[in-house]
Amino acid sequence: MSDTSKPERFRTLLILGAPGSGKGTQGKVLGSIPRFHHLACGDVFRSLDTRTTLGQKFVQYSSRGELVPDDVTVELWRENIQHRVDSHMFKPEIDFLVLDGIPRNVEQAKLMEKDIEVLKVFHLSCPDRTELARRLRKRALKDNRFDDANEAVIQQRFATYEAETKPILDYYAGDRVVPIDASQAPAKVLYDILAGVMTLEAWKELEKMKI
Ligand code: ADP
Repeated sequence: MSDTSKPERFRTLLILGAPGSGKGTQGKVLGSIPRFHHLACGDVFRSLDTRTTLGQKFVQYSSRGELVPDDVTVELWRENIQHRVDSHMFKPEIDFLVLDGIPRNVEQAKLMEKDIEVLKVFHLSCPDRTELARRLRKRALKDNRFDDANEAVIQQRFATYEAETKPILDYYAGDRVVPIDASQAPAKVLYDILAGVMTLEAWKELEKMKI
């Protein structure tokens, strides 16, 4: 980030973790800090009009705890992020893109290679599935999330995470992947994520810039 010219690919930080691990919470906080732009794929899906074909598809898959097919997901994501660039909400030349919920499997990661340069993958790890399920049930009541309300769907979402999303960690193997204990208090999780960000060359260059 030595100048303010547009990078070829978005400089990206991924937040990865099982449902309930706190991806959305951390993404939202990070996104409220200048020079970080947060996009949660689940929020993009939830904002769709459920009368549209894609909106229907989302309800159909998410209510079973399954992933929406890759091609439509990545296409929807591309349209959404392009809109954010065009409207200057996200400024790729000076902002980090913080993605949560996408890519959600290796195929999506491959499809997105040409769009994003993944600088870090923060793996919010919490092996205690009982704790995660507790958080999801709490969220279901507060945020009206139909996919978190049913025990069988919650278990299916964990299974989908293990089978499809976790292999992403091997795809991006190396020092890019930062394991973070997601059972800690949210402020401590944020602290660990920021510590990881601050080791980045791109961060050090951004820090020197007067914007
Ligand atoms: P959580 O934060 O609990 O993991 P999300 O809000 O990210 O859940 O996603 C809710 C649902 O939306 C998923 O279970 C899935 O059906 C759908 N979805 C979200 N992101 C993707 C994606 N990248 N690919 C396919 N389906 C997705």
